[in-house]
Amino acid sequence: MTTPTIELKPSASPLAAAEREAILANPGFGRHFTDHMVTIKWTEGRGWHDGQLVPYAPIPIDPATNVLHYAQEIFEGLKAYRQPDGSVALFRPDQNAKRFQRSAKRLAMPELPVETFIEACDVLVRQDIDWVPAHGGEESLYLRPFMIGTEVGLGVKPANEYLFIVIASPAGAYFPGGVKPVSIWVSEDRVRAVPGGMGDAKTGGNYAASLLAQAEAAAKGCDQVCYLDAVEHQWVEELGGMNLYFVYGDRIVTPTLTGSILEGVTRDSLLAVARDLGYESEEGRVSVEQWQRDTENGTLTEVFACGTAAVITPVGTVKRASAEWKQSGGETGEVTLRLRQALLDLQRGTAEDTHGWMHKI
Ligand code: PMP
Repeated sequence: MTTPTIELKPSASPLAAAEREAILANPGFGRHFTDHMVTIKWTEGRGWHDGQLVPYAPIPIDPATNVLHYAQEIFEGLKAYRQPDGSVALFRPDQNAKRFQRSAKRLAMPELPVETFIEACDVLVRQDIDWVPAHGGEESLYLRPFMIGTEVGLGVKPANEYLFIVIASPAGAYFPGGVKPVSIWVSEDRVRAVPGGMGDAKTGGNYAASLLAQAEAAAKGCDQVCYLDAVEHQWVEELGGMNLYFVYGDRIVTPTLTGSILEGVTRDSLLAVARDLGYESEEGRVSVEQWQRDTENGTLTEVFACGTAAVITPVGTVKRASAEWKQSGGETGEVTLRLRQALLDLQRGTAEDTHGWMHKI
């Protein structure tokens, strides 16, 4: 497979520094985009070609383009963090690159080489480095690599051409007012993914499928939906955009990957970080009954969600059709906070990178 080099065609009119700084003062999430994007094409018989860094701009799309009808689309999400010495580093981009390959395989799309994925992220961050927020806070530059089928035609089949793009968006602190527990609606009827389906791929359809359940959770006063397995409707899988961890004293447990759970990079990192801090960490099956019972009998001391966006989010109130309970009395647990701080310290370069996870730009 050929690896294209990325040709630099930077913008002649990037946003003025004062305007950029005004955005960085209150970036929110996914609302503002940097000056550039990287695009790479794939064509059957030719492979990857025409890698370019170009000004951020709309992409013209024929109404009959494959992705608009049959959703051949995959994406990733990772962050660039400012380090204490002013440099910038990505957190485990190889893991996102590999997950992108697994997603591509599941959606019958070509696999982008890991080194090309990382190079595309590097080139974009290097060009738009002034968009990476200053060291010290919890702000970052969020990268969104994605790929779409671009063949024009209504036949249901894998496209014969694809477009890979990386865009970047400054992200504010997830909890500007301090870490706050989220409330969870445990959905016992709607499911996110099924065995043999594509729950372990990061593809837009999974998120479209989650929106109605998310609206139902909001109507019940909850922030997030927890999905159960699609066969027995009792085994905890994950939230719509985060994995879950259960804290039993000094042992933390996350649901075993079943094929219908997305393999989170944060989830994987925490299995190791928890061990570094002296906790036991493992994968296992947790039922919603057990969740409720172990909270009531006091053995399940904390529950938290994890993902790139918020790193770690404590779970406060949990509701299911038949019951409602509070986790850790609705407060943020000690283990949750300790793990959160340890991961933040690694990502922000204030702790030693003993696992070799930080990728300097
Ligand atoms: N589950 C789902 C469904 C997600 O969308 C995400 C976010 N990518 C996660 C879990 C967490 O994954 P990560 O830690 O790689 O961000």
